[in-house]
Amino acid sequence: MMGTEYWGWAGEAHLREHGESGGAVSGLLASVLSSYDEVIVIRKTGTVFEAEVHTLDSPQGIARVQGALHAVSIELSHYLQLGRKTAIVLKPCEARAVIENIKRNHVRREDVLLIGLNCGGTLPPVKTKEYLRTQFGVSPGDIAKEEIAKGNLIFFTTDGQELSRSIDELEEAGYGRRESCRYCDVKIPSMCDIACGNWGTPAEKHITFLEVFTDAGAAALEAAVDGGYVSVSEPGEKLAAVRKKIEGIMVKMAKGWQEKMLGPFMAMEPKERLDAIHAALAPCIGCYACRKACPVCKCGDDCKCFQADPDDQLPISMFHAVRFLHLMESCVGCGQCSDACPMEIPLAHLHQLFAKAYEGRTGYKPGMSCGDIPPLSRGDFPEGY
Ligand code: SF4
Repeated sequence: MMGTEYWGWAGEAHLREHGESGGAVSGLLASVLSSYDEVIVIRKTGTVFEAEVHTLDSPQGIARVQGALHAVSIELSHYLQLGRKTAIVLKPCEARAVIENIKRNHVRREDVLLIGLNCGGTLPPVKTKEYLRTQFGVSPGDIAKEEIAKGNLIFFTTDGQELSRSIDELEEAGYGRRESCRYCDVKIPSMCDIACGNWGTPAEKHITFLEVFTDAGAAALEAAVDGGYVSVSEPGEKLAAVRKKIEGIMVKMAKGWQEKMLGPFMAMEPKERLDAIHAALAPCIGCYACRKACPVCKCGDDCKCFQADPDDQLPISMFHAVRFLHLMESCVGCGQCSDACPMEIPLAHLHQLFAKAYEGRTGYKPGMSCGDIPPLSRGDFPEGY
């Protein structure tokens, strides 16, 4: 095989028919099971708003696991185990979390095949279902598929209708993507072995754009093609450029949201900013759900440095202070902490304030490459930091 970019589709007719975008990812998964212990995916259990984590050790059942399921933001990186050879299908933030876990020796890079999905953002299920009912008069159970394309959030119903709204308008009205997805600026997961998606493919054809980033990715795809699990062709040059253009538009949108959501905090005087952070954290009940949900932090319940003193009178307990410091150079912006918090504290927003400021000052962005050493470990902070 030549090059690093392909259009692909499943070799088997039933995977082509039932799989998303021609089933190339399903075909790849069926193939890699001959050299990996397991495949970890999410699998729809009801509507597109309900899914479970599923581990496969044989190709049986592959046909049931297709689809990006943007309305189910389960964080799959939690499910990797040291010593298991695993292929795993991930959104960019999940893949970045795996990279951070590899740096901390919780996972070995050579044991995992990272199959990334291009991602324009995920949807909060409860609000999205409410939106479907109130704005379109449609039951969530009648949705067969959702996607973000050409600046619109599009729902495809089981009876063939296409319901579409501008993502900008939706988000101005308080609907649309999860907050952390709006300002996430990693849309094509280049830290993976292979990135997959339908950006840069002809709308009328049912195929997947595959971009290979590593030797392991090239070997996996080559084995899948040789075994008849996946067929590939060279992508059309024009549409390959369209894929990059879509990525550029999505990143530009994300930068706009960063400015809008994080900018006002950044513009505050230090004391004012600290007061705002204290006020945001004031409702905390110390349940530690945010710590458990975090795909990067591996501190367990017995981690003493994170136990807030019940008599703690500090406006920010040591728990949050330590988390801000350690996530400043490792937060991948997945938003799981915000989703888990019973007090609805915008934790991802707060952590990204620190992480984005740190990234701006040092140029270090967590989760992009196993070879990137954080500045704190390198000890070469830019002058004046
Ligand atoms: Fe506090 Fe929310 Fe974290 Fe619980 S999940 S410890 S309430 S910030």
